[in-house]
Amino acid sequence: MQRNLILLGAPGAGKGTQAQRLAARFGIPQISTGDMLRAARREGTPLGKKAESFMNAGQLVPDEVVVGLVEERLGKDDAKLGFILDGFPRTIPQAQALDTVLKKLGRDPLRVIDVQVPEATLLERLGGRLSCPKCGATYHVRLNPPKQAGICDACGGALVTRADDQPEAISQRLREYHDKTAPLVDYYRKAGLERAVDGVGDLEVVLGRIIEALASGA
Ligand code: ADP
Ligand code: ADP
Ligand code: ZN
Repeated sequence: MQRNLILLGAPGAGKGTQAQRLAARFGIPQISTGDMLRAARREGTPLGKKAESFMNAGQLVPDEVVVGLVEERLGKDDAKLGFILDGFPRTIPQAQALDTVLKKLGRDPLRVIDVQVPEATLLERLGGRLSCPKCGATYHVRLNPPKQAGICDACGGALVTRADDQPEAISQRLREYHDKTAPLVDYYRKAGLERAVDGVGDLEVVLGRIIEALASGA
């Protein structure tokens, strides 16, 4: 059975944190468009250059840029038994493009988990997030600190605060989420694929809720 999963949720909801744990548990890849775009930006590829100004401003990059990335990634062998999309789709046209790609690849239907977190908690989480540019792991200065300050537990990389985790970019990202991404909840609910999960609580408790929601059918 394939596990074709999408984690939906606002910036700071814990998508990356949970996707990493689910990927390890199910043995399927985590596909984070944010991580892919940051890698492209770091390497200075044409795609990275195109995406950079949008990302720094907290705006979504144009659909055609990310759709191409995801289509290529989903075609790789390690995604045959399933995948966890984290941060994609983020617009209705992206969701429609994904439906087309999955049909073309002959994949099973999606399962969509909407991780729900109130705005005050999102702000608290984003305000203290630490990210590992090397492996994509995230920590929080207070809520989920690394064992050694400033160092990634998973890979030993030096942790950074993302440029778009500054207050101005955070409010822009939350606006983008409400305007363009939140409508996806309805899109997938109408298709009968969506399950809501309470994203507030201990990391492991939230992970348990997601696994339970997946086990009980979409
Ligand atoms: P997203 O990928 O949805 O933007 P992240 O997974 O990067 O969110 O999490 C945002 C921040 O919140 C990180 O600093 C992370 O360590 C922290 N975090 C994630 N889940 C929880 C949780 N259940 N409780 C407390 N902090 C959390
Ligand atoms: P977060 O985990 O905080 O929600 P991400 O790491 O997923 O943030 O994304 C960071 C930035 O990368 C976004 O603000 C946006 O500029 C860009 N981005 C990532 N995924 C997408 C996507 N699917 N569509 C458009 N832009 C994206
Ligand atoms: Zn790391």
